Amino acid sequence: MTLLVHYHEIGLKGKNRARFEQILLQRIRDALAGTGARVSRLTGRILVREVPEAQLEEVERRLERVFGIAYFAVVREVPIDFDGIARVGLELLPEDTTSFRVSAKRANKRLPFTSPEAERAIGARIVRATGLPVRLKGADVEVHVEFFEEVAWVYTSRTRRAGPGGLPVGASGKVVVLLSGGIDSPVAAWRMMKRGARAVFVHFHSYPHTDYYSAVKSKKTVEVLADWQGESKLYLVPLAKVQEEIFARCPERYRTLLYRRFMLRIAEAIAEQEDAKALVTGDALGQVASQTLENMHAVGRAVRMLVLRPLVGMDKTEVIEAAKRIGTYEISILPQQDCCSFLEPKRPATRSTPEDLDRAEAALDIPALVRLALEGAEVLRIPPSHLRSAADGQDPEAPAKLLT
Ligand code: ATP
Ligand code: MG
Repeated sequence: MTLLVHYHEIGLKGKNRARFEQILLQRIRDALAGTGARVSRLTGRILVREVPEAQLEEVERRLERVFGIAYFAVVREVPIDFDGIARVGLELLPEDTTSFRVSAKRANKRLPFTSPEAERAIGARIVRATGLPVRLKGADVEVHVEFFEEVAWVYTSRTRRAGPGGLPVGASGKVVVLLSGGIDSPVAAWRMMKRGARAVFVHFHSYPHTDYYSAVKSKKTVEVLADWQGESKLYLVPLAKVQEEIFARCPERYRTLLYRRFMLRIAEAIAEQEDAKALVTGDALGQVASQTLENMHAVGRAVRMLVLRPLVGMDKTEVIEAAKRIGTYEISILPQQDCCSFLEPKRPATRSTPEDLDRAEAALDIPALVRLALEGAEVLRIPPSHLRSAADGQDPEAPAKLLT
């Protein structure tokens, strides 16, 4: 079977466009690895050929997760001949069709007819055969005909499926995402991926002050996100020592904010190693004490690197809805011992300044603590589900193994 993949070309010009197409092609090839499909690039479209019928559902499921794809459809390839095209159009029209229209596009501008002429000619033949009414606006079924070189591709609006849109992962460079185990940060990561950024994940745990389960959860979350962006890297970083030092040497009310500052610093060091250009958090304005404008500013001043907060203007209900669509929600709501609720201050500061925090952490050897955390980091490479062995995903001992 053959599928035709469309992407939005708006705003894509010259060199950018060729790069976008090249990256999208590669992302689709990666996503369809093992299905037997052959992927090729044409002007303005991507064609997926030789999809075995038994694999169609799987191929469609994976294409729905490739950023950059606007929509796609299984197509029939027909020689350029109005009678033949109309016959295929008829075959594709569902039994219950109440009205239709033909929509034609020409990639080949040398054809001896215009798109409206083709629409009328093919439409008239379908009317003769069925007596169905044509509705140019609000047709029940649209018969799409795309002319390309020697052939036309025919499909209907009923079988067309939407892709996630956006830009293919890699088109916008790399970011480091601070992934907590909560609901928000996976959604923040997803939004950056959708804009073409490859996400490298960093999770901080307080083991042995808390159990290791938050790290296991973050791994499970990255497994879901790997189905969207392909193989993903996850750094598991021990924060226990940093937290002990902050607990012993810094004013209680700034504790959470100082944990956050260290998270940003450590993430920044990882971003430099990874050649990533920004840090990403799941902060939303005013959601908790650490996410007031003042505190976000004061925390953010610990690093020079750009800190992006793609959820800053979203409500929790919007984030939850997004998390459900992405597939991370069910994992995020599992209970965990949060590293930041560890030794949480009773009255956290809601309006700190950068200077307050500088003073609060003056007694700490910051570079040494950052170095220590980096030295203790574990790095996992997490492939998308179709490249993980079945046993890997289902192993009931997996969390325990992670602990060792
Ligand atoms: P989330 O749902 O992502 O946990 P939240 O609204 O609960 O967000 P906080 O827990 O205050 O907010 O964390 C704010 C942001 O700080 C998170 O979205 C995440 O980017 C980062 N963060 C917090 N804790 C961790 C952690 N343990 N490891 C990595 N990043 C973290
Ligand atoms: Mg949280």
